[in-house]
Amino acid sequence: MDYDRLEKLLASEKMPKYRLDQIRKAIFRDGVSSFSEILTLPRIFREELDEEVDILSFFPEKALKSLDGRSIKILLKLKDGKYIETVLISPKPGIWSACVSSQIGCPMGCQFCATGKGGFVRNLTSEEIIDQILFWKQHLKKNKISGIFSNIVFMGMGEPFLNWKEVSKSIKDLTDPKLFGFGSRSISVSTVGIREGIEKIAKEFPQVNLAISLHFGNNKKRSEYMPINKDYDLNNIKNSISCYFQKTRRKIFLEYIMLADINDSQKDADDLIKFIRSIDDNYLLHLNLIKYNETSGKFVPSTGTKMNEFKNYLVSREISVTIRKSLGEDIQGACGQLAGKN
Ligand code: SAH
Ligand code: SF4
Repeated sequence: MDYDRLEKLLASEKMPKYRLDQIRKAIFRDGVSSFSEILTLPRIFREELDEEVDILSFFPEKALKSLDGRSIKILLKLKDGKYIETVLISPKPGIWSACVSSQIGCPMGCQFCATGKGGFVRNLTSEEIIDQILFWKQHLKKNKISGIFSNIVFMGMGEPFLNWKEVSKSIKDLTDPKLFGFGSRSISVSTVGIREGIEKIAKEFPQVNLAISLHFGNNKKRSEYMPINKDYDLNNIKNSISCYFQKTRRKIFLEYIMLADINDSQKDADDLIKFIRSIDDNYLLHLNLIKYNETSGKFVPSTGTKMNEFKNYLVSREISVTIRKSLGEDIQGACGQLAGKN
């Protein structure tokens, strides 16, 4: 929602400040879907606001719920007619986590990713980013779904560090105690390894969690499947990680999708171990092995047995690693499956 516009409107109406506080609480904390629900406001004013101000900057079009009920994906039509997707996931009963998009499409072209396949359309505004959270708050309230809205992950469509101006503004709003009031540590940003972005987040939001999509411990292979590796290769990522550790002393999550016969051999594990060991303070790194979610016929997910073997091998070499569960695969609502199509 265009909060600045709302503030101006209230000022022009010479509304007392407590009215703005009432509206802020109702929208950003309680998740009301319209001003008419804010009964503490005078009726005439509620009607005027409903006419003048849109709470959401898009129109929800199609919702898909996974069979296990633990993830919901929604297709959103933006005001310019373009589409994005956002997902609500329940990693544990009573806990909800939102996966938000930061761009329409993505210019990075990672071969295994559905978002990358469609190319890049445009950056989202911070309003369009935070409205995804408002949307999920409203959804939980409307459907009387109980639980805690605990986390926000920038792991939907797009590369957040290519839209830092808007993403950083959205993080400011999400953590603003006067607006959403999320703790910085409940927000995670995932990047393909853009150095400038890693430096900026370390400086501006040292408490926000950082994940780096590594996927390969070998430059030749990484370049083959992730074009960005030509500009930000493993050596560059290593330097970014060191710089991040120096500034924040906080953990980084390395993401590793497991692709059968592509990056799941013992040699691949050895390359990965070598990379991790080459980094100072690597005890601050945690590796997440991720099941590949099908996006095209080109890749096949590694089997569960293979993933376990790979993990055990890493554990035996003292690498901190877990297999991350993937939710929402049956609705194409899992990582890398968001394409924003109707
Ligand atoms: N552009 C950022 C954030 C969005 S992608 C990034 O790449 O990190 C979010 C996560 O989903 C990344 O770790 C990405 O590598 C992963 N991903 C992409 N395609 C996937 C797929 N088909 N299966 C599983 N994970 C995938
Ligand atoms: Fe873009 Fe991330 Fe998908 Fe790569 S994995 S194409 S960086 S969204």
